[in-house]
Amino acid sequence: MAFAHDTEVSLRAAAALVNTLPRTGAGTADTLATAEDLDAFLAEHEYTGAIVRDDAELQALRAIRPRLRELWGLSRTGAVPAVNAMLRDGRAQPQLVIHDGYDWHIHATPDEAPLATRILVETAMAFVDVVRADAYDRVRHCAADDCAAVYVDFSKNGSKRYCDTGNCGNRMNVNAYRRRKAEESA
Ligand SMILES: [Zn+2]
Ligand SMILES: [Zn+2]
Repeated sequence: MAFAHDTEVSLRAAAALVNTLPRTGAGTADTLATAEDLDAFLAEHEYTGAIVRDDAELQALRAIRPRLRELWGLSRTGAVPAVNAMLRDGRAQPQLVIHDGYDWHIHATPDEAPLATRILVETAMAFVDVVRADAYDRVRHCAADDCAAVYVDFSKNGSKRYCDTGNCGNRMNVNAYRRRKAEESA
């Protein structure tokens, strides 16, 4: 599934942000709890525009996570009102821009808008693409039975089953192997 580059980047960042919620990603802890966590997230996912790195910004980012996670539990049609509400709440005003060596892409919020607002709107814009491309089946939960992480499948044939937060695929293979062995010896 080929989305525009900025759409894919936004979807990966949104999934990563959702996966910082407790009991969602690689562990049970909230992994966006401290200033260091925020730094780590911003090192992994680059954002241009204003970044303050204060507690208010951290709390605002933490606060949009449930709203982003909701998108992973909706159908294509069900997502439409949620996405439209996010665009409205963030006062989205799409503009084509070019900067810092990136090709033409869309910014739907001014650079000085708060980071949480920019991420909310950027995620909504990316989901606009997902809905328009009728690709909502790529918006998935990890297939590992002990993992609640989310991801978007960008593979050509739509065969990706596990998230990117740990080694869910390997772990499930090992479990299946052990089960088979146990059944054989039983
Ligand atoms: Zn940009
Ligand atoms: Zn997983």
